[in-house]
Amino acid sequence: MLLIGTHISAAGGVARAFSRADALGCEAMQIFTRNQLQWQSRPVLLEEARGFYDAWQKSGIKCVVSHASYLINIASSDAEVLEKSRRALRDETERCYQLGINDIVLHPGFAKDGAPENALKTVSESLQLLFEETPGCKVRILLETMAGQGSALGGDLSHFSVIGDMLHWNRRLAFCIDTCHAFAAGYDMRSPESYERFISLIDKHIGTDNVYCWHVNDCKSIKGSRLDRHAHLGEGQIGHQAFSLLMNDERFDGVPAILETPKDGIGDEGNLAFLRKVRGQ
Ligand SMILES: [Zn+2]
Ligand SMILES: [Zn+2]
Repeated sequence: MLLIGTHISAAGGVARAFSRADALGCEAMQIFTRNQLQWQSRPVLLEEARGFYDAWQKSGIKCVVSHASYLINIASSDAEVLEKSRRALRDETERCYQLGINDIVLHPGFAKDGAPENALKTVSESLQLLFEETPGCKVRILLETMAGQGSALGGDLSHFSVIGDMLHWNRRLAFCIDTCHAFAAGYDMRSPESYERFISLIDKHIGTDNVYCWHVNDCKSIKGSRLDRHAHLGEGQIGHQAFSLLMNDERFDGVPAILETPKDGIGDEGNLAFLRKVRGQ
């Protein structure tokens, strides 16, 4: 069974996220360890790391993942953006190492004018550099599947196998599958048969063992629309069954299933209740 969780605000300090997640009955959570809309971040202070550990120990949270800043584009063909992105990702890796977080979810990026082949090579070089610059650190980078709009990488699972091959399947490279993004990118998962086909494609391109996080979101837009519009579970185009199949899929035992559904309407409470209901069914 997967662990149930959602994206939790770390406003007022990262340690505060635990009590918010506990209040919702989460088993896992995703946070931003810093203001994700700024390039600059300050280092983690020792007291802050200690407070984070203490709060974690007292909480029911089994797994924490970080989502990297949306500004980061390690595929960029612009030298300055690329340099800033690589530095920001290294900072985030160090922050997570200090906080005891093992996994960072990262959008693979985009190359405005370049061919995807070049952009994928740049992503691989950026990650290679990161792994070399942070030796002894086990923090993984989870590249996230995207809706495939415009020049964004990661709409096609084959992009990830190209990167994996270039990095010789380094143990620090792993993946996050977003159900809404994958569906918008054209992958079906609505029936038991299409779900199984989808998982076998994941296995073929990246290996199910390399999936360390799921983003569980329904999708407002139709399959293959390439439009990234998250919906409440069961209320979008993906519907009920895919989430029920996923939540009970033993190939992903212990992997966090993180909600990034809208905060309006049934909100986190409603979507978490949906996950609890379908899990074990
Ligand atoms: Zn994301
Ligand atoms: Zn999205």
